[in-house]
Amino acid sequence: MTDLKPIVTIDQVGRPIVIAGPCSAESEEQILNTAHTLAEYGIKIFRAGIWKPRTKPGGFEGVGEKGLNWLVKAKQETGMLVCTEVANRAHVEAALTAGIDILWIGARTSANPFAVQEIADCIAGHDIPVMIKNPVNPDLELWIGAIERIYNAGIHRIAAIHRGFTVYGKHLYRNMPQWHIPIELRRRLPDLQIICDPSHMGGKRELIAPLSQQALDMGFDGLMIESHCDPDCALSDKSQQITPEVLNFILNTLVLRETTHTTESLSLLRQQIDQIDNDLIEILSKRMRVSREIGQYKKEHRMQIVHTNRYDDILKSRMKFAEELGMSGSFMRLVVEAIHEESVRQQIEVLNNRMK
Ligand code: PEP
Ligand code: MN
Repeated sequence: MTDLKPIVTIDQVGRPIVIAGPCSAESEEQILNTAHTLAEYGIKIFRAGIWKPRTKPGGFEGVGEKGLNWLVKAKQETGMLVCTEVANRAHVEAALTAGIDILWIGARTSANPFAVQEIADCIAGHDIPVMIKNPVNPDLELWIGAIERIYNAGIHRIAAIHRGFTVYGKHLYRNMPQWHIPIELRRRLPDLQIICDPSHMGGKRELIAPLSQQALDMGFDGLMIESHCDPDCALSDKSQQITPEVLNFILNTLVLRETTHTTESLSLLRQQIDQIDNDLIEILSKRMRVSREIGQYKKEHRMQIVHTNRYDDILKSRMKFAEELGMSGSFMRLVVEAIHEESVRQQIEVLNNRMK
């Protein structure tokens, strides 16, 4: 994908791109009311879902095609670009016919290559920007695959939307940010715009500001934030929607950082980081050598590879030590789990005699 282009080149007030609007279109009045207020605050791109993918049947599944007319009316009255979510051929055809400016593919749809391909086939030959949310599962290749399907259909104005990844159980975030995934996406596709959706990531109003700031600090290109004229009465995602007034307040408090300025001291610090990373890798390889020797011993004594008590001791002691040094225990748990997994893999190789 050598010719990726920005989704919009409209005149924004500095960075970032801001896309705002309700989770769902509910009525013409709600759409026009929200759109006018957002436009007064300088928002240039308006979002609203017309077809809503609900986890279970019986929820509010969107107003359907009639909502497209409301979006077009909002566009005519405010001059904003309008965008909506599409999940199949019928949605794409209806949105293109209505004159929607930008389409997005939702997280559940990005996870399904058949659906993405259907959308790509239908979109081919049309010059419309497409935003692709990360799939619900943390699978970067699947995300890139979805982007590639749209790109191969001749669409080059593409942006990725990072909205976090599903995990089982209740957590601080509705969807885990797993920032390393969009960071790797940026490394793999440096010309691809990445927009953060702090609304679906946090799932709560109070997390929108900190997540937005974090996304900007990481150099993301924009934000997609759910905004509703009367959030408490919203038919979907009400706990994460904010009024246009609150949105405006949050946007005004965000700090924009320099992106291109690399000071000499910063590059010196980066050199130190590079050196420390190399040291870490060397130490890890030393640990793996010892681990293989242990594997050899276990093989000779017909011992099993994983000893739960020993692993439990390692995990707890490393987490405790990390905490003493000012790191989070759960971070160290991830590190130890990854090291242990590689160590077990290497010992199994020794057992199978594929390694000296
Ligand atoms: C949405 O944007 O309203 C939506 C359904 O989001 P996601 O696909 O990220 O769940
Ligand atoms: Mn929503």
